[in-house]
Amino acid sequence: MHPMYSSSSSGLKASYSRRGQERGIPRKCRCGAVSVIKTSETLKNPGRIFYCCPYGSKENSGHLFKWTDLSMVEEMEEVESVVEKIQVDVGSLEKGLHDVEAEMKSLAMKSNGSEIEGIKAVAQGCEKEIGELKAMIVCCEKEIQALRSFKNLIVCIVVMFVLYALIF
Ligand SMILES: [Zn+2]
Repeated sequence: MHPMYSSSSSGLKASYSRRGQERGIPRKCRCGAVSVIKTSETLKNPGRIFYCCPYGSKENSGHLFKWTDLSMVEEMEEVESVVEKIQVDVGSLEKGLHDVEAEMKSLAMKSNGSEIEGIKAVAQGCEKEIGELKAMIVCCEKEIQALRSFKNLIVCIVVMFVLYALIF
């Protein structure tokens, strides 16, 4: 029975799958002829567009027949499934990229860590040197103060000698 004259659209779909027709927009009939688009003139589906084989007819139902709108829906579903597959692929690629990024980060942190340790060691060395310098400065200040007090003492002695010389 030609699906064009089938009683329901669900019946049509079942007959398609039984026939093993390709999903989406049919390019060719199984006889090899390129599909053509025709408009239904039946009372049930007036003006409904369909793909068919140029050699097909209601008497010869062995050829291609498929509603264009159903083909479009299938085509959309095919495209959607392809898009979904691409999304999954992109998702796994993104995950892979994240893994690489995470690995790079951890590697960077490791290398930075050793660098930081090196800088810390140098800084600690600097701090030690600065501490030693500070200690030296403190020592110098003490010596300077000692020298100052010694100088004051000498000045006092000199002044006393001068005063002694002036008086006597
Ligand atoms: Zn055909």
